[in-house]
Amino acid sequence: MNSYDAVVIGGGPAGMTAALYLLRAGVNVALIEKLSPGGQVLMTSEIENYPGFPKGLQGWELADKFAAHLEDYPLERINDEVRSIKVGDSVHTLTVGGEEVQAKVVLLATGSRYRKLGVPGEERLLGRGVSYCALCDGNFFRDRDVAVIGGGNSALEEALYLARLCSKVYLIHRRDEFRGQMVYQHKCFNNEKIEILRSTVVDEIVGEEDVESLSLRNVVSDEVSSLKVDGSFIFVGFEPIMDFVPEEIEKDRNGIITDVEMRTNIPGIFAAGDIRSKMCRQVASAVGDGATAANSAFTYLEQLG
Ligand code: NAP
Repeated sequence: MNSYDAVVIGGGPAGMTAALYLLRAGVNVALIEKLSPGGQVLMTSEIENYPGFPKGLQGWELADKFAAHLEDYPLERINDEVRSIKVGDSVHTLTVGGEEVQAKVVLLATGSRYRKLGVPGEERLLGRGVSYCALCDGNFFRDRDVAVIGGGNSALEEALYLARLCSKVYLIHRRDEFRGQMVYQHKCFNNEKIEILRSTVVDEIVGEEDVESLSLRNVVSDEVSSLKVDGSFIFVGFEPIMDFVPEEIEKDRNGIITDVEMRTNIPGIFAAGDIRSKMCRQVASAVGDGATAANSAFTYLEQLG
């Protein structure tokens, strides 16, 4: 059985930062990542608010830079999925794929996954007009009409991205006011390709083979209508990925509960980034969480002796 001082689960900005800080402190680290490193960042078209890049950069470019920063360190990479964690006194045991791995420190940084809208047609038409990633699927809708559902930063940013490709973007939000940052709101409101439908919910995504239209309902007037679109991009938030996290670790519906040093209630187990229960979900805050968690983990390892 392989055994490490620290295992970082998740290769997004939080996990990669934590691994970097631990490696620089001379800790023996394994980074477990199911897919390729980058996390949600890979699905983001343009990142404009990560300091140091005043002109912005593509999500994949930033992910590549994070990954490149780890290249010169003796990092053990495990490309597999963590199925469970057995909490121990000073050593925890993880089931990774079919194997067991032991670590004194476990750093949870699996981030979050997109939330589903939960309406009829959504599952059935996935990949046939229903998408959760404008960067991945936007090109299929070049010069066509699409809807973006949601009112947060993701919906606003991705509506702007799609407006560069599509002939028309309907931005459908269930409330009158948007949750996303003002800078994106203004850009959307002033974009002539974007039409905003406020106080409107999608009751059904309709189509035989592919998406053909949306059944809409105005929540103020109760008026129902049908909107013809070729694609429907859903950005109604994210939920933390913590299916593999054992019951003993305290969590709420928004994620793992930590203190300001990123410690969970279990000694030797830390959490960083979007998996945590917190308000601010940014690349910059994930990086900060990763550095803090690594520092706490290092202190813990020193005390453990
Ligand atoms: P979010 O901020 O949680 O917003 C989700 C949006 O979806 C809200 O407007 C919400 O409406 C709406 N919604 C939720 N459930 C719905 C439902 N069942 N039907 C219809 N609408 C529904 O999620 P997000 O935009 O994906 O962002 C997630 C986090 O990442 C946030 O912290 C965000 O700031 C951050 N983020 C930041 C950037 C950036 O800084 N550039 C970019 C992307 C994401 P209500 O407003 O009515 O609740």
